[in-house]
Amino acid sequence: MKILFVFSNYAPVGGGGIPIGLSILINIAKQKGHDVKLFDTSYKIRTETYQQQTNFVKTKEHYNYNVEREYLENELVRVFRDEVNKFGPKLICFSTLTPTHELALSLLNGLDKSKDQLVIFGGIHSTVIPEEVIMHEKVDIVCVGEGEKAFSSFLVHLSGEKDYYGINNLWCKKNGEIVKNSIDNFLEPDLIPYSDCDLFDERHLYRSFKGKNMRSLRVEISRGCVYKCSYCTNKNIQNMSKGKIPYFRYKSVDRCIEEFLFYKNILNLEMFYFKDEVFLMLPKKWLREFAKEYKAQINLPFFCQSSAKDINEENVKILKDMGCVAVAMGVEVGNEEFRKKVLNKPVSNAEIVSAVKLLRKNGIRITTYFMIGLPYETRELIFDTIEFQRVLYSIGSSPTHINSFYPFPGCDMEVIAKKEGFINKNFEHNRSTTNAGLDMPQLSAVEIEGLLRTYAAYTRVDKWMYPIIELCEAGDRTGVQILNIINEYYSERADQ
Ligand code: SF4
Repeated sequence: MKILFVFSNYAPVGGGGIPIGLSILINIAKQKGHDVKLFDTSYKIRTETYQQQTNFVKTKEHYNYNVEREYLENELVRVFRDEVNKFGPKLICFSTLTPTHELALSLLNGLDKSKDQLVIFGGIHSTVIPEEVIMHEKVDIVCVGEGEKAFSSFLVHLSGEKDYYGINNLWCKKNGEIVKNSIDNFLEPDLIPYSDCDLFDERHLYRSFKGKNMRSLRVEISRGCVYKCSYCTNKNIQNMSKGKIPYFRYKSVDRCIEEFLFYKNILNLEMFYFKDEVFLMLPKKWLREFAKEYKAQINLPFFCQSSAKDINEENVKILKDMGCVAVAMGVEVGNEEFRKKVLNKPVSNAEIVSAVKLLRKNGIRITTYFMIGLPYETRELIFDTIEFQRVLYSIGSSPTHINSFYPFPGCDMEVIAKKEGFINKNFEHNRSTTNAGLDMPQLSAVEIEGLLRTYAAYTRVDKWMYPIIELCEAGDRTGVQILNIINEYYSERADQ
């Protein structure tokens, strides 16, 4: 059977990364002997406006990636239609995130879908609002939650021309009705197939680190998260299975080592990126054993993500011994009361400062993630964030990632924002992180966008320059020129 996978994606400046879920599904389809193709928009779509300069780190390659993109969105729709017509797949599989869903729909809308073609959607966006995704006239099936087991059964049923409507984790259209199967179809972590990266553009493998682009791969050890931040959809996913799927589970050490060794050799890797939500949440005994084997058998530098809560002397020693070069940490805001009460993230500023110091003392780079434009946030609260960012820079934190709050469908904060009428009517559910998600009485979308534009400058310049930066918030030509000069100046001095 001919199967076309579609990765509707805007590769961030400087690379994208191979999507783990999709690469596993490709492997499943190939193993079953199907004729598989991939349509990946990452390096095909021209996105000059994507991710305006929100931090200072850039390399020459970032710009090269930009200029190599080929088509405007409407041209890409035509290219996609031609490719589908030429290949003639029986099954077209889309995997989307909320910011990339619209692009997938543009591609789908441009198709002359034939009667015997089936379209299936999966990924996090379909998981959190399946009822909306399946309403599209050209969508036949939606995968809700984890897809590996459901997709595997689906292919068996489809190839055998058997009825596939009863497979758990799938919602299917049947004679005008929607069959909603339960969400409890998952594999034990050690049984999850490997990623198959062959069909992806090589550029997905490059990740810039300290001014160099290194061949690296995102890998997963665990699924789920024990925390319940109000701006994250993780909790919704936990709730959907009604307790039938453990909300945190992980692979065995042996399985991880075997899998990572395979990727290291076949892809000639120089680095790994553990994409687990909170790597250090893994049990201590597991971590110690993994660290020992990783060092002995893999021995490549790696990135990981962690909460400040899990960073302590013992964990940092483990990270250092096994070759961790960088940790990413979500701080989100500078005001700890707001972080605890509104974001449901009970981490104190003292814990964050201590984590940054400990990591820096051990030579591990630390990148922090912040957001602005959250429900109930004020300009003063945003300046608490700027102030805290300055503190973190002063103790060695690397250039930050600043994002506009994104009202992901179904997360607690989106529900609140909708109830309060805070959603920005001009918000585009697309690639942009510089478009304000909210427009509130105490903090307008225009003000949020002005602060996003100037955030990097506010966190770096001497404070006597604040009135100048404030003028730049308006985003006029002179303001943009001033910001460009400031950004260039600090870019050259940033920790690469
Ligand atoms: S720690 Fe990360 S993954 Fe876990 S709930 Fe918070 S934002 Fe979501």
